[in-house]
Amino acid sequence: MKLNKKMIVLTLAASLLITGCATSSPSVEKEKVQKENPVIQQEKEVLEKVAEKKEIDLQEIKPNEAGQIMVLMYHSIKEPEAEFTRTPDNLRKDLEYLYENGYRPISLKDYATGNITTEAGYKPIVITFDDGWQNNFNIIKKENGEIEIDPDCAVAIFEKFNKEHPDFPLEVTFLINDNIPFGQEEYLEYKLKYIVEKGMDIGNHTATHVNYINTDAGRIQKELGQIVKLVNKYLPDYEVNTHALPFGSRPKDKSLYKDLAEGDYEGVHYKNIAILNVGWDPYKSPFHKDFNPLAIHRVRASDLQKYVQGVGMYDWFKSFDKGTKVAYVSDGDSETITIPKNYEDVIDMNRIGKKKVRTYTIEQ
Ligand SMILES: [Zn+2]
Repeated sequence: MKLNKKMIVLTLAASLLITGCATSSPSVEKEKVQKENPVIQQEKEVLEKVAEKKEIDLQEIKPNEAGQIMVLMYHSIKEPEAEFTRTPDNLRKDLEYLYENGYRPISLKDYATGNITTEAGYKPIVITFDDGWQNNFNIIKKENGEIEIDPDCAVAIFEKFNKEHPDFPLEVTFLINDNIPFGQEEYLEYKLKYIVEKGMDIGNHTATHVNYINTDAGRIQKELGQIVKLVNKYLPDYEVNTHALPFGSRPKDKSLYKDLAEGDYEGVHYKNIAILNVGWDPYKSPFHKDFNPLAIHRVRASDLQKYVQGVGMYDWFKSFDKGTKVAYVSDGDSETITIPKNYEDVIDMNRIGKKKVRTYTIEQ
């Protein structure tokens, strides 16, 4: 999560509100001073706005924080469109669609931990890229020796969209292998640091894109530990703690699942807070009693019916619109979980920590 200006104003205003409640009611004299003081007047206006914000119109916004969230799965970004390739223009089209239809990106880490700060009335969505293709983050070296980020690579497309739409957070996770992530070895350090400094994330897709089916504990630890080691060489404090299963496969031996979640390799410790399947449907609210952060479903970010076969991102958007699937709609307050009354039973009270649950009845 990144602190934005709005949150800072809200925090300030909330502390004002607390101070305001603690003091005795102001005298007439005091009121007069307040009326004349433009700063106090301004603070009052902020307070009124916060009061408005806290009391969102539930009937109008209809938050449902027990609803489902889609984790989009992209791979390569280039021409032409194919099974594991989205064209740059189609990626731009996807972002436009998401924006216009009320979806706002959150990080995979925030999804896994239930830290959802999406603005009230908007639907959180998670965006992921597998395999660390060069076209996800490509550097062009110009004739004068200067470098620029290829405007058709994923990183540039997301950054540009975020600049034009600041209320569409720059939250993307790139899950990499160790075949020189993003190609160009000479820019590896620059790219890894750039991603993290901009607030995007790097996740683990194993060193060799291994198929886990017949692996043992040692191999799993090596595959995961090597990526953590690689990233921490350049970013010692960055936690690589999200993992996408190559081919969506898991070891046949279920006792090895624990090694996918946590382990050690050559003195490097790894602990995954999210493990991503290769999936085909939206997944549960992080507050749902059946939410398993170590088996999160994903959706193919494509509209090529030949490959998505009715379960691609645009198919699910339609289901959300029709109400045959229920989307997560944020209440704008990460500390409160707002749900229609009939969803009360699905919330796992042990999972939500200090958060409060607020229920309401949707008026017909
Ligand atoms: Zn892959």
